[in-house]
This record gives sequence, structure tokens and C-alpha cells, in this order.
Amino acid sequence: MIPPIRRCAVIGNPISHSQSPEIHLSFAKQFDLPLSYDKVLVDPNDLKLFVRGFFDQGGTGLNVTLPFKQQVIKCAHELSQEATICQSVNTLSVNEEGHIRGDTTDGRGLLLDLKRLNFDLENKSILVVGAGGAAISIIYRLLKAKANLFLTNRTHEKLPTILRQFKPITDDTNNGTLAMYDKNDDRQYDGVISSISEFNYELMSPIINQLAKSAFVYDLNYGERAQDLEVFCEQQGQKRYSSGYGMLLAQAASSFEIWHGKLPTIE
Ligand code: NAP
Repeated sequence: MIPPIRRCAVIGNPISHSQSPEIHLSFAKQFDLPLSYDKVLVDPNDLKLFVRGFFDQGGTGLNVTLPFKQQVIKCAHELSQEATICQSVNTLSVNEEGHIRGDTTDGRGLLLDLKRLNFDLENKSILVVGAGGAAISIIYRLLKAKANLFLTNRTHEKLPTILRQFKPITDDTNNGTLAMYDKNDDRQYDGVISSISEFNYELMSPIINQLAKSAFVYDLNYGERAQDLEVFCEQQGQKRYSSGYGMLLAQAASSFEIWHGKLPTIE
């Protein structure tokens, strides 16, 4: 018997740029899984109505992109610990009792990609550049992987709040640590993860000087938006760098696993 088609979608506003349908349909082919995956432009005022209606009508899963990753929290009946601490949801699923569950897979996606690239985290000193939604959604998993993180941003106001937000994780000595980056500190870093939406020479120059040549540089951006940092790394002799395209695929793979119980390969 042919299994019924599972219905998934990504919601956002705007949404036309999303590559999620192509990615999920190609994952489904790996398992011969019958899947439909749409992209849906949702009006912010209709978000809850849309989400509840989608699952009431038998939908399997929703991905959530900008600007709804926080707003969608109130549409879920329950959240994973990671989504609660990060205050971000990019994946909605439904359990057997019909409860809608919110989760975030950005951090898992990043970890899978760093593993693929052999960029080590455990007990390493890692600089996280940026304090936007993306930075917050990766810190939980980096800490769970026992990385010692140093956080910097163009504007400093958000940083103390982020340190407080992750205290439940950093209070556990089995996890990594989180501190503010100090440019006067002569520490050598083992890696940099940049999550800023635009390359900034002023911000990146001093940081690159504090990296060992064997250190890695990972940019969450991909495509044209990752090019400036790639050129900069080449100029500075940093050979181990990567764009965030693998993370894009791997966070989608983690959502796929939540909905369908199978982790696709991103190769
Ligand atoms: P966001 O919430 O708007 O935050 C933007 C961040 O970039 C802030 O830290 C901001 O600093 C900084 N920034 C913006 N312009 C800057 C400039 N000219 N110089 C220095 N810093 C600047 O955005 P987000 O959701 O965190 O996303 C950040 C990037 O990550 C986006 O480009 C997004 O496409 C990418 N991303 C990739 C993936 C993936 O799967 N690969 C996943 C999520 C996000 P201030 O606080 O000082 O304004």
C-alpha cells in the first residue's frame, strides 16, 4: 500500500526566497517518502489561525522563518528546552495528543556542519560575532558541545541580556562557558563563528589577528553574502573557512528528522 502524502510547509513574510521546498523534497527522495512541501506567505495577524488550522487539517510539520521565529512561540502548546532558552522556533510538529510542539534546529544544523568540516568545539575558545536571532539560536548547542564562547557584536547593549539568558546552561559545569569578548585580552581563539548579516571590516580585523592560522572561520551567511568574509580570510592567510550553506541544509535535515524520524544526508 502506498503511504499517504505528508504535508509540510515553510511560513514567513517574505517567503519567495526560501529554498526549503527544494531541500525537503530532495531529502524525501532519499527515503522514497511521499511529501508535499509548500511555501506560504502569512500575514502576521493571521499567524495563529494559520498554524492551528494547518495542524487541525492533518499537516505534519511547519518550518518558520523571518519574521516569525519568536512570534510563533505563542502558537505552540509546548516547547523544547532549547526553544525555550533560545526563545526561537523554526520547526513545528504535532504529537499524538494533537499538541503543537515548537523546536529550533539552527544550532543542531550548525553542529552537524561543523562536524562534517572537522571544526572542533570541545574545550575550544570560540568567538561568536553577532547578537541577533541567529547568534542566539546557535549558542545553546555550542555550549552543550562544551565550547568556551566569547561573544561580540557591533553594538554592545544586547550582550549582558544574552549572557543572562543562557545562565541555566552555563551554570551546569558539564557545558561550555559564555563570556564577553575583550579586545584587550591577548587570548588566541580556535575558531570564529560570524552571524552578522553584513561583513564589517572594522569588527573583523582585530578578531582575525587573534586567531591561530589553524583556527576555523565559519560564516552563517552563504552565497554572495558570504563572499566578503571568504576573500578576507584568504587575504589574511586563514585557510579553514566555510559559508553557512551546509548549516542551511543541516538545520533542514534536523527538521526533517523531527517530522519523519529519518535524518537525511546533506552531502
Ligand atoms: P538579525 O537578528 O537581524 O541580526 C543581525 C546581526 O548582524 C546583529 O548582530 C547586527 O548587529 C549585525 N549587523 C548587521 N549589520 C551589520 C554591520 N554592517 N556591521 C556589523 N554588524 C552588523 O539577523 P539574524 O537572524 O541574526 O541573521 C544573521 C545572518 O545569519 C543573516 O544574514 C542570515 O541570513 C544568516 N542565517 C543563516 C542561517 C543558516 O542556516 N546558514 C540561519 C540563520 C541565519 P547590531 O545588533 O549591532 O545591529
